[in-house]
Amino acid sequence: MKWQIGDVTVTKIVELEMTGGSRFLLPQATPEAVLPITWLQPHFADENGRLRMSIHSFIVETPDRRIVVDTCLGNDKQGRRIPHWNDRDGPFLADITAAGFPPESIDTVLCTHLHVDHVGWNTRLVDGKWVPTFPRARYLMGRTEYDHWRTVKDRPDMANILADSVTPIIESGLATMVETNERICDEITLTPTLGHTPGHVSVMIQSKGEQALITGDFMHHPCQIAHPEWSTLADSDPDQGIETRRRMFQRLAGTPVLIIGTHFAGATAGKLVNDGDGYRLDV
Ligand SMILES: [Zn+2]
Repeated sequence: MKWQIGDVTVTKIVELEMTGGSRFLLPQATPEAVLPITWLQPHFADENGRLRMSIHSFIVETPDRRIVVDTCLGNDKQGRRIPHWNDRDGPFLADITAAGFPPESIDTVLCTHLHVDHVGWNTRLVDGKWVPTFPRARYLMGRTEYDHWRTVKDRPDMANILADSVTPIIESGLATMVETNERICDEITLTPTLGHTPGHVSVMIQSKGEQALITGDFMHHPCQIAHPEWSTLADSDPDQGIETRRRMFQRLAGTPVLIIGTHFAGATAGKLVNDGDGYRLDV
């Protein structure tokens, strides 16, 4: 799946898709609450009101950069809270290569935040050692984000994630710490969308008068467009997350900005439009 924004091409590479089983993430999104949001079907929910979600990377190609935005779960990782995210043996690297993006061709890796499903393929296991998957890339990581998670003591799972997917990148000298409003190149700028994590960013793409926004996890599912007040249990600061969604939806509604969702299944992208008192995604 690909989108064109002026001179920039965005390609989606899927690692994992699921239907249902998301109550651990969005407890308010019960089938009874989801079914009335009819525009979610068929892309984002099934006919029983179960949410469809996806874990994927975006490859963002500008005229002179080839950027991976978020790196999914990775293979062979241990100590994850969700059992089937451990010891994975998926074809992501073969898929990304088959799509025309072998790891050596990537010059930039960008993590919207440092959660488990956004940093996994930063590294891969070679002879018992975690090595950078993208050996020629600069890995851009949020300074606020890194400073936060390295000092959190009550999350053993986050310690595991940093140890196998972040620290090896820093030790290899490939990491560059960036600010939440960093300009990456002419076409790509970060914008802070805080709440899900303390240094969370979304990615603004701008080229030839066209614009897109890669969400990251300031919303996980389009049902939060209808219900900005629905928070995920993974949010560091739920109130700030709600504020961020309201602010972003107000700013984006009725504009031609293409919203590209980091965990949106199916069509994955659309435009935000007013819908009665609220909003919906027009795919
Ligand atoms: Zn995520």
